Amino acid sequence: MRKIAILGAGLTGLSSAWKLSENNKVEVIEKNDYLGGISGSFKHDEYTLDYGPHKIYTQIPYIQKEIEELVGKDNLLEIPKRSRIYLKKKFFNYPVSFIELILKLNPLLTFKIGMSFMFRKIRNIFYKKEKTYEDYISNRFGHAMYKLIFEPYAEKVWGDPKKLSYELAKTRVSIPNLSTLIKSMIFKKSNPEISADVFYYPKYGISTLAERMWEEAEINKGKLHLNSNIKNIKVKDNFIEEIRYKEKSKEKKIKSDFVVSTIPINELPKLMNAPNDVKKAAKKLEYRSLILLYIIINKKRLFLDNWIFFPEKDIIFNRISEQKGFSVQNVPGDKTVLTVEISAEEDGYLMNLDDKELFEKAIIDLEKTGILTRNDVESYFLIKMDKTYPVYDLNFKKNLNVILEYLSNIKNLITNGRQGLFNYNNMDHCIDMGIKAARYIENEDTNWSEITKEFENYKIVD
Ligand SMILES: Cc1cc2nc3c(=O)[nH]c(=O)nc-3n(C[C@H](O)[C@H](O)[C@H](O)COP(=O)(O)OP(=O)(O)OC[C@H]3O[C@@H](n4cnc5c(N)ncnc54)[C@H](O)[C@@H]3O)c2cc1C
Repeated sequence: MRKIAILGAGLTGLSSAWKLSENNKVEVIEKNDYLGGISGSFKHDEYTLDYGPHKIYTQIPYIQKEIEELVGKDNLLEIPKRSRIYLKKKFFNYPVSFIELILKLNPLLTFKIGMSFMFRKIRNIFYKKEKTYEDYISNRFGHAMYKLIFEPYAEKVWGDPKKLSYELAKTRVSIPNLSTLIKSMIFKKSNPEISADVFYYPKYGISTLAERMWEEAEINKGKLHLNSNIKNIKVKDNFIEEIRYKEKSKEKKIKSDFVVSTIPINELPKLMNAPNDVKKAAKKLEYRSLILLYIIINKKRLFLDNWIFFPEKDIIFNRISEQKGFSVQNVPGDKTVLTVEISAEEDGYLMNLDDKELFEKAIIDLEKTGILTRNDVESYFLIKMDKTYPVYDLNFKKNLNVILEYLSNIKNLITNGRQGLFNYNNMDHCIDMGIKAARYIENEDTNWSEITKEFENYKIVD
């Protein structure tokens, strides 16, 4: 039996731990005091809340089966998706219907969108530049549509869109172009590759996925260290000899035959004392942070949507949702909990505002949209999370490749997951990555960097 150390107890690390524990000794090291990383849940009074809304939706059939077996069909709620988008002071269903668009949007703006799309289609025949997020979206939707929705949304969530790579749009925007969107609006045909009609959710919170994975690994005698922050990774002759971590306040170390790292890739070079050019590349890889404002409301429900998007810049948040829109079990009684997502630059202006300042900004905008009034609020609290969104800037691939090339020389290490491969993806993708990593470790005749190339094709479907 080989001993495998797994760094990080998010879904990527835990799916590897779950599968590898069947034939190996696994030991997981996690800095938080809970399982699941970004897709974890926590208790607040009698409420079970997630770190932002998490739907289970996959285009990978074997992953759906794995999830059903893991959680149990009785505990997996099937939820018809309802979502809206707030534009020009009006709410539109998402995906938008053609009739609704014609009735609600200013006809001049609709005309401008159509003309700008036609202009781009013709221009693309003679000259097609595709380097930035802006190029990619404008080429497919026209510049007017880009300006209306995609530019302000990108600026709020990921930063200056002119500095973002086309690869972000490729991953994050599942609708291929405006003609497909219009066709689906007119014929009202559902397309599982561009929008989820139905999604799944574990009755008792999204952390059920992580908890169930760990239960399975624990049955197989896996060991877990929570509150354990990795401090140093000792590499000798291209081999990881030892990992040092701090469990609560105690210094500890672990030796293993193989290491699966799912912690942020830009932290590894420093922990391993890699050459300076690798450390330099790591410093240039950026993540965005997320501020989650939870508002306890004296009402049974605020809206029937699972979530509502707010792309425009005059609203501080980019999305709101109610935990009750996922499972009523999580928020018993006559109250509801609203989750407000505000994306922010790491250590930037928003991250440095205090709770009251952030709440005040958000409540003004919430009142503006008519979602609620200040009088509905019973209480609120905030959680600030680092490293939630990898930023695909124009140089991210170059910097990422410098680090990956260095790491590929280390014989008993792979780096994996949303953080570990700087891969903008969803939970189903992470489970796929974790399971594929386990298969690779058990049967090392394949090439890990070839396997990871497939991960670049994941698409996020809203
Ligand atoms: C707001 C939001 C909403 C989302 N909604 C959806 C959705 O609806 N559907 C969907 O499928 N996906 C969704 N996702 C994406 C999904 O949450 C992620 O893709 C997935 O959880 C990433 O898992 P991971 O294990 O790769 O990374 P993580 O969950 O980040 O796990 C990495 C782990 O490493 C640990 N770690 C980091 N540094 C150290 C260290 N030095 N020492 C020890 N441990 C360390 C972290 O604490 C963490 O637990 C959403 C993401 C966000 C941010």
